[in-house]
Amino acid sequence: MKNILKSKKYTNYFPFLSLAFGIILCFYMVNQLEKKHILEETDLNLLRASKSIKYILGNDYITSTMDNSTYSKEYILEKGTLLNEMSKELSVDYLYLLVKKGDDIHYAIMSDTLDFLQEHPTGYYWESLKDAEDDSFELTWKTFDNKNPIFLNSSDIWGSYRSVYVREVSKDGTVYIAGADTEMSSLNGNLSKHTLILLLNTVVTLLFAIPLMFSFRKVTLESSSLKKASGFIKSKDQLTGAYNRKKGIFILKNLAEEIKKDEENNLSTCLIDIKNLSYINKKMGLKAGDDIVKIVVSILNQSFRKTDKVVRLQGDKLMVILPNCSKNARGILIKKLKNRLSIFNKMNKKNYFIELNYLYIQYTGENIQEFLDHSLNRLALHKKNKGIEETIIQEEILLGIKNNEFKTFFQPKIFSQDKNVQFEALVRWFHPEKGMIPPDKFIPVAESSFLIHKITEMVLRDSLEAAKLLNTRISVNISPIVFEDESFVIDIKNVLEEYESRNLITLEITERVAMKHSFSTLKKMKKLIKLGVEFSIDDFGTGYSSLSYLEKFPISELKIDRSFINNLETNKINSLVINFSVKISALAGFKVIAEGVETKEQIEKLMSLGCFNFQGYYFDKAQPLEIILEDYSKDKYLDKMDFSTLEKL
Ligand code: C2E
Ligand code: CA
Ligand code: CA
Repeated sequence: MKNILKSKKYTNYFPFLSLAFGIILCFYMVNQLEKKHILEETDLNLLRASKSIKYILGNDYITSTMDNSTYSKEYILEKGTLLNEMSKELSVDYLYLLVKKGDDIHYAIMSDTLDFLQEHPTGYYWESLKDAEDDSFELTWKTFDNKNPIFLNSSDIWGSYRSVYVREVSKDGTVYIAGADTEMSSLNGNLSKHTLILLLNTVVTLLFAIPLMFSFRKVTLESSSLKKASGFIKSKDQLTGAYNRKKGIFILKNLAEEIKKDEENNLSTCLIDIKNLSYINKKMGLKAGDDIVKIVVSILNQSFRKTDKVVRLQGDKLMVILPNCSKNARGILIKKLKNRLSIFNKMNKKNYFIELNYLYIQYTGENIQEFLDHSLNRLALHKKNKGIEETIIQEEILLGIKNNEFKTFFQPKIFSQDKNVQFEALVRWFHPEKGMIPPDKFIPVAESSFLIHKITEMVLRDSLEAAKLLNTRISVNISPIVFEDESFVIDIKNVLEEYESRNLITLEITERVAMKHSFSTLKKMKKLIKLGVEFSIDDFGTGYSSLSYLEKFPISELKIDRSFINNLETNKINSLVINFSVKISALAGFKVIAEGVETKEQIEKLMSLGCFNFQGYYFDKAQPLEIILEDYSKDKYLDKMDFSTLEKL
């Protein structure tokens, strides 16, 4: 060895050899340090992600009776997509929940890629862990008893993962695991990339290239940021960073060319209009308006795919360019957009909402400028057709609730044979400038946000108080969106329990609600009936009018819509519908009540058809509770009946 080193030939190589050795040593040390660092970071990230799942799904998603039929495909698709979204945001590959059932463990939900979910809408819902040949089954089983999070490396037929399992307890006390995975390949990929970069730096440093490196870096950085900045000014909107109109047209033109070359390609756009921007600019200032546009662009960027381009066309008009987007994918994207928007609106503490109007338009080969003009015209038309939504907007409703501008009125429902009077709660809005606004004008607006939940709760509370004072049942109108909410039963239950009174509330739902998702409707109804709630079918005859559900659902009352009462004398079919409803109700054991009764003649005709229960202006319009209480007695209303006619029958 000595000889070798002494020989001139080899001493010439000595610096290179020690350099090589130095590099290898460096590489090893850097690699080890990086490994540790990346693993720590990954674990922290996984933990954060798995702990957030319950906030997305709610802590009542898992129940002790859960199995493969608890949730519908659509529901799983919706929630899976949300989880998928979240996993991307938190930079993990999979998020899921695990539950024990018998001697097996099942996936209670799993995030997956958009493509996968589109093909298999149930994702991994109820997949068994045994079937997946997961090598960590035993460990997973034990985790259900482990209070601390467990980090593990595992592999199944699809690959190997770094995972965390966090033990959680659901609302009904069921223990489950919230898990998050990162694929080892992406971890290793990160690692080798980091290591390589660090190594290169070390080598260059070792080669005494520091000054050179600095000057080189400076020059390249400066030139690239200059390039970037000039490009940015040319193609991007200054406020939002979205593409500007000019660049948008340029992109559209290029994509249109591609379509011409290849028939397989397709191109569509989603045009978006921020409905309340001018209102917010006017009432809250331009800064708030600017904020909204920025937020909308960021929501669009997050909701659409990486390949889609967000363009700001003018003030409140945006466009997303969607190359090769199937109808299915479109549906999912729009759902994502809606979800994000509603999450934003729920969380936002400011006095405004973001409301969007959007319209999909397929490109069919026309001139791009014409296509754009035409699209904008269609968007304007679309906006116009939604008339009332323009004049009353959610901010006003929100402010109205805060300022107590809403009041619950009550209209009597007369059950002549039982000699009983109940009431229906009807909400009224006393706007400080616009005067009294009827519910038909603002309920549809409230229904497009969580405001309808606030209004319903307010009406329900007023009704419970009134029902106690009047000692009778009161009906509350329930919008489909409220009935279909996951927490509907629990929300109603909580309010009812607060007032400690049973058998005072009837919920009026429409045929449409009853017909949709009949299985879950039935479950909800049964739970509430146990709490003394009754159900009434509102506006009967105007919706699906399928009679089969009348015997299927546990309803107590059928309200024949006003339109059938209006022209009773002349319309034979209306008489038939009423007579028919009366007959079914007798068989199925519920009551029939006619809405919108205004004249004595109508009452007589209705009685001749077998209907003895009425609501309408003939008795009274909806009144504030104070007025009703002034001289309240059932007889005041019952006396309005022409009993001589009743006795004749
Ligand atoms: P609805 O549930 O069918 O309520 C009956 C409507 O008919 C009420 O209008 C009532 O004032 C009106 N009406 C009652 N008797 C007569 C009559 O003899 N002749 C005529 N022409 N009309 C009569 P209103 O209060 O304007 O309510 C309209 C709709 O708004 C309601 O229709 C209901 O769908 C909705 N709504 C009202 N309050 C609430 C609420 O608190 N929550 C929800 N979700 N919807 C509500
Ligand atoms: Ca009603
Ligand atoms: Ca009605």
